[in-house]
Amino acid sequence: MVPSELANALAEAGQRMDRHGWVPGSAGNLSARIDDTTIAITRSGVHKGRLTAADIMAVNYDGSAVTPGTKPSAETLLHCQLYRLFPPIGAVLHGHSVAATVLSMQGAITFSNYEILKAFGFSTHELDVILPVYENDQDIARLAAYIEPLITRDPPIGYAIAGHGVYAWGTSVEHAFWRLEALEFLLQCELERRRSK
Ligand SMILES: [Zn+2]
Repeated sequence: MVPSELANALAEAGQRMDRHGWVPGSAGNLSARIDDTTIAITRSGVHKGRLTAADIMAVNYDGSAVTPGTKPSAETLLHCQLYRLFPPIGAVLHGHSVAATVLSMQGAITFSNYEILKAFGFSTHELDVILPVYENDQDIARLAAYIEPLITRDPPIGYAIAGHGVYAWGTSVEHAFWRLEALEFLLQCELERRRSK
């Protein structure tokens, strides 16, 4: 159901996220597009540091499990939404780092003049890039409905959920990991900068 190379790439990405401390407890979820009807995503409640290919399952674009009886990650609908809205997206990674959690409690985050912004395809560092922050909501369908017009109107480099964590994406699992790493680097820089003010 899930191609083994995708399952292995997601399992490895989860372990790498764990080594960075971005997925404490069973936090975070990872996914990749399989085709135009199904998505590979982490099962609910699995520790990402112990993630294996067997913990990756297939879901339909409405978030339902392809194999009944298996439970996908609680935030599956947010992943499905990104694949549905943006055809170039091949993988989505979500973590709960300290920097993302703390900074997102202070409202939208602006990254100004950081060289690493070029990792998102910008040709210069001389710009202000906003990371939108959405209010947290345990009703994921309602949260997805709230987010949809906002990211459609102005597609961001990623987004944060207040007091919760960050979503990043890319054309492949590896590309999504690079972008998440760049985003986490920016968040960490911003946290340090605000602390030293
Ligand atoms: Zn989460």
